[in-house]
Amino acid sequence: MSTIELRHVRKSFAGNIVAVENVDLFVDEGEFVVLLGPSGCGKTTTLRMIAGFEKPSSGQILFGGRDVTHTPTRQREVGMVFQNYALFPNMTVAENIAFGLKQRKISSKAIADRVNEMLSLAQLADRRDQYPAELSGGQQQRVALVRALAISPRLLLMDEPLGALDLKLREMLQIELKQLQRKLGITTVLVTHDQQEAMSLADRIVVMQEGRMRQLGSPEELYNKPNSRFVAEFVGKNNVLSGIVKNAGKDELSIQIGEGDSACDVVAVQAKTDSWKAGDQIALGLRPEHLYVAPPGEEVQSSNCLPGKVSERRFLGNFVHYHVELPWKQMVIIECPTRLSQYEPGSDIVVHFKRQDCQPLAA
Ligand code: ADP
Ligand code: MG
Repeated sequence: MSTIELRHVRKSFAGNIVAVENVDLFVDEGEFVVLLGPSGCGKTTTLRMIAGFEKPSSGQILFGGRDVTHTPTRQREVGMVFQNYALFPNMTVAENIAFGLKQRKISSKAIADRVNEMLSLAQLADRRDQYPAELSGGQQQRVALVRALAISPRLLLMDEPLGALDLKLREMLQIELKQLQRKLGITTVLVTHDQQEAMSLADRIVVMQEGRMRQLGSPEELYNKPNSRFVAEFVGKNNVLSGIVKNAGKDELSIQIGEGDSACDVVAVQAKTDSWKAGDQIALGLRPEHLYVAPPGEEVQSSNCLPGKVSERRFLGNFVHYHVELPWKQMVIIECPTRLSQYEPGSDIVVHFKRQDCQPLAA
């Protein structure tokens, strides 16, 4: 069984730097888990502990239920891929792929077969005798990936593997990587600071902040039900408005947002697990695609309306982004299909949104 389990894993470095604090995580067989978070939040340290390059200061790591906390890297049977490819520059593509196999007392016939298999997996059969410097960045990263896979690892661990590539190539390789992982069914943990990459690759995402896991869930769960302001703002675009709970009903919250004379009342749906009460400070997450624009005075379908003024209109192809200023000077971004976007900067408008599209968050 190729599962990974982290139990209360903590890592501190000299000088009392706590890189990872109390991480508990179970990665299922064949699952693709992404560790996502800003720079310095402990992603690499977590991955290095799974690989065995770092020992946890406390806690345990288990593979398939077996404690590997003190098992050296070479006995953990993990394939590693790094951002900078780490290919051997003086070896050909085929020699790079064969490297890990040669250290494993495998017959040269079996090595040759495996290298050929990996070359075709990477779609690089015609490049077998070239050197890394003769390949594009994307090709080099494909070699790094199949080199990691050549030894038939039980786990695949990747640290920002696509970080050095330009956007188009990165998106293409994301698709290839996801297809390959699914086809091989290999348990995978990938580290990235790019939320879009995390969403497109992961079965589940671990959002980390300052060494801690902030939320664990499918991309949809994190996007639709962030559990904190941090996750709401880090995963996807979000507008976060601050307010105070005026009334907490069984299924509904009435919330005052804004300041002074311009404060507005809005209504949000309350989840069963929430426990808001009147007087609580609250924040509301509103995705740009869940905000709509109407001319002032027009009747709208949504329960919530705020007055606003368009300050910017950004054309982005099939949609535009309106930057809209609310009466208390806060800016919100609204995504609108271009064919419906008739407002110019300076227009007074009404921003409206549905109660079920509000994400109530701890302030
Ligand atoms: P990320 O990969 O999310 O950017 P890291 O895991 O590399 O974060 O680092 C987490 C924290 O631990 C940072 O504050 C970093 O400076 C610190 N750190 C990482 N490795 C070491 C080390 N070998 N010695 C001291 N501090 C370290
Ligand atoms: Mg890192």
